[in-house]
Amino acid sequence: MRSLARSATFCTAWLLVIVRKSAAEIAKIAAAGRILADCLDMLAEAVKPGVTTLALDRLAEKFIRSRGGVPTFKGYRGFPGSICASPNDMVVHGIPGSYEVRDGDLLSLDVGVTLHGYVADSALTVPVGAVSDQALALLNVTRASLEAGIAECRPGHRLGDISHAVQEVVENAGFSVVRSLVGHGVGRVMHEEPQIPNYGEAGRGPRLEVGMVFAIEPMVNVGTWDVYVADDGWSIFSADHSLSAHFEHTVAITEQGPRVLTRRRSEEEGVAGGAVGATA
Ligand code: MG
Ligand code: MG
Repeated sequence: MRSLARSATFCTAWLLVIVRKSAAEIAKIAAAGRILADCLDMLAEAVKPGVTTLALDRLAEKFIRSRGGVPTFKGYRGFPGSICASPNDMVVHGIPGSYEVRDGDLLSLDVGVTLHGYVADSALTVPVGAVSDQALALLNVTRASLEAGIAECRPGHRLGDISHAVQEVVENAGFSVVRSLVGHGVGRVMHEEPQIPNYGEAGRGPRLEVGMVFAIEPMVNVGTWDVYVADDGWSIFSADHSLSAHFEHTVAITEQGPRVLTRRRSEEEGVAGGAVGATA
């Protein structure tokens, strides 16, 4: 998704530049995050059997622009949508289109918002009507793994602590984390250093410092962690076509610990679609 070559030309060892944002910059990312969180809550309400992913895309774009923001994904490397909408065994990067949401589906919605030059990135997976027990367990585990990763976002911890925490929750539940797609730094642009894998060793990697802002985004499959890219060049599916879920938040590291900049009101209220449930 991005070039990593430039920094390597200046240094024989790998030069990892993790931008630290000022409090003023974090406030700007939070303002983008407020619009994004409200957009995801709106979309989750709009997901009903029969609605197309293109209709959801239009709703999202209208919502974001009505609040003064710009849908970050639109035109990003040629991506045609304002959102990514990925049903069932599609992991991420689904292009909105004619797909009609059905009862029993899981639909992953990933959205970026740019406001006054600052970017927030967040995703959730919505159950449509009555879904299987396995699907519910997948949602709960993926959400819980994101929260476990967020809890490690403290000054003095290391990047690997985030990765390890996510992996542990997922694998303890018998599911698998996608290996070839990662979280990332975010804020001044959508994809910044560092890459944040959803698996790894605790105590490894760069130390976390106040002002770092990360998009943490576990992508979790019921079956194998292996994935493939479809012929459209964007959609990514689980290799065995097992169900997949994706939750993402933009998180700032502060003196007091993690500050989630994309927290949805539905999560704060603990209603369906947002509650952090017990792991299965
Ligand atoms: Mg995202
Ligand atoms: Mg992201």
